[in-house]
Amino acid sequence: MATILIIEDEEDLLTTLEYNLKQEGYRVYAFSSGEEGLEWVAREGPPDLALLDIMLPGMSGIDVCHRLRNSEPTRTVPVLFLSAKSEDIDRVVGFELGADDYVVKPFNVRELMLRVRAILRRSVPRHAQPQDDSLTLFGTLKMDRRRHQVWVAEQEIFLTSMEFKLLDLLLSNRGRVQSRDVLLTKVWNVQNTTIQTRTVDVHVKRLREKLGSIGEAIETVRNIGYRFREYPAAE
Ligand code: CA
Repeated sequence: MATILIIEDEEDLLTTLEYNLKQEGYRVYAFSSGEEGLEWVAREGPPDLALLDIMLPGMSGIDVCHRLRNSEPTRTVPVLFLSAKSEDIDRVVGFELGADDYVVKPFNVRELMLRVRAILRRSVPRHAQPQDDSLTLFGTLKMDRRRHQVWVAEQEIFLTSMEFKLLDLLLSNRGRVQSRDVLLTKVWNVQNTTIQTRTVDVHVKRLREKLGSIGEAIETVRNIGYRFREYPAAE
């Protein structure tokens, strides 16, 4: 679960953001001044993302960003600025500050949630190993095993745990046929019976539907089982 720090002095907006981010499953720490926010960081360590309002009563969001960038543990924390004026944008997206993104107020909360997700997705988890096989890309499909999330063309696909295991197995064995028996043993941990073999078919059908255009990559191998195509279709 990602930790998000918000610093915003407009109380209503702060409450709205805190509520919506919590709904998305993030751990959220909300403050109305830069000083309080930095105090929290000093105490608790770097968050996975900081949402910073620019115009704050004491130190500005830009000052907060500078402070994060100039301290080793927080140097790479992604920052998304919340700006009241589009003129500020030139300042925050400059190389000097290296903001990851910004939104201009008033903004659509839904859209902000998508931006947050996008930033967290592309930022390397702080404790990740350099050689990390938890992430698989296949055409527009992206599978993150650690977070148990799947996306097709940037849209998150919600899979049941069985569907996730099934996709994981097929995707990890791209180009190789997986018989229904093997799938039953590895995904369902059961031995073959006629009824259970049909279970595999039903799950594959549903998985294909959920994956949309990528679903075609799961090929039926007659009388045997299924195979995930080795390479994505050309776009
Ligand atoms: Ca403000």
